[in-house]
Amino acid sequence: MTKVHNFSAGPAILPQSAIDASIEALQNFSGTNLSLLEVSHRSKEYEAVVAEAVQLVKDILNLSADYEVVFLQGGASLQFDMIPMNFLGSGQTAAYVNTGVWAGRAIKEAKMFGTVNVLASSEDKNFNYIPKDYTIPADAAYYHCTSNNTIYGTEMFEFPKSSVPMICDMSSDIFSRPFDASQFDMIYAGAQKNMGPAGTTLVIIKKSLLEKANEKVPTMLNYKIHIENGSMYNTPSVFAIFVCMHTLRWIKSIGLEAMEIRNKAKADLLYAEIDRNSLFVGTVVPEDRSRMNVNFVLKDKNLEADFLKFCESRNLSGLKGHRSVGGLRASLYNALELESVQALVNAMQDFEKVNA
Ligand SMILES: *Cc1c(COP(=O)(O)O)cnc(C)c1O
Repeated sequence: MTKVHNFSAGPAILPQSAIDASIEALQNFSGTNLSLLEVSHRSKEYEAVVAEAVQLVKDILNLSADYEVVFLQGGASLQFDMIPMNFLGSGQTAAYVNTGVWAGRAIKEAKMFGTVNVLASSEDKNFNYIPKDYTIPADAAYYHCTSNNTIYGTEMFEFPKSSVPMICDMSSDIFSRPFDASQFDMIYAGAQKNMGPAGTTLVIIKKSLLEKANEKVPTMLNYKIHIENGSMYNTPSVFAIFVCMHTLRWIKSIGLEAMEIRNKAKADLLYAEIDRNSLFVGTVVPEDRSRMNVNFVLKDKNLEADFLKFCESRNLSGLKGHRSVGGLRASLYNALELESVQALVNAMQDFEKVNA
């Protein structure tokens, strides 16, 4: 098979070990001689998969016993509703930071359930930076942020200090570097960026936040119900959690410290070429540049289609920017190898020789 370098923003590249384990399990899951697609989620072999996936998340992030871990459905997008439904009480205000489309959708949904205070926004510059100059009101029910803005290529490397419960959408940079999980009361991430295939969402919640949850929440949208039932209140996304478990095994085998070194090396290589190459320019302020999604444009927009074709001919896939911003975007998630970034850099240099 021809090697294709996969820069897709999501669903995205996964470690080969998770793909190989999936192929095997589709034929014969855990020695059952049944396909993973046709086994009961309540079989002891599958219950072991969910238990291991939950334990791996706790191990990798060093979570204390104060945290619950569940795998839900509905994507990261359903969390935009579940969070205010569970944690925004009547008469309370929730604090949000608007750093792009996903943060904006979280704000839009929260407004259906209560009062939202948008503390800061980077919309004035088409979300090309992370706002930092704001204070979180002490009486907010919670504070919500998006650690990595997948569409714009900005990333938060520091989080505000506050006594208000902090909730973070880490869909596109979870497990990409070490961080202090204990500063968050809730973390969530759709699997399909850095953890697995589409179909499941990782949710991590501190017990002290759960205790404050609203009582009247529809069953399927109620965190407590899903936690009490160990991600199995209803049929979970059996295949997706299996792939997450194998990806998490791979992440743990590398460790977050080494993962950060890998990810930094990849991002540094590509940003250096963007800054050096006369044809390209980065779109994000340097200090907020994401290591996961690298956004850039051709100075001469007329060359964009040619460059994308050039990349395709060299088996560099998934480089077109999100439809809402255009330009180019290279997603460098955990499983992408440095060698793939080098192939992209070589293509940029060869394209420059022909077009400069
Ligand atoms: C992709 C993405 C989402 C939306 O995820 P779905 O699983 O498609 O609902 C939300 N937040 C961030 C940061 C994302 O990258």
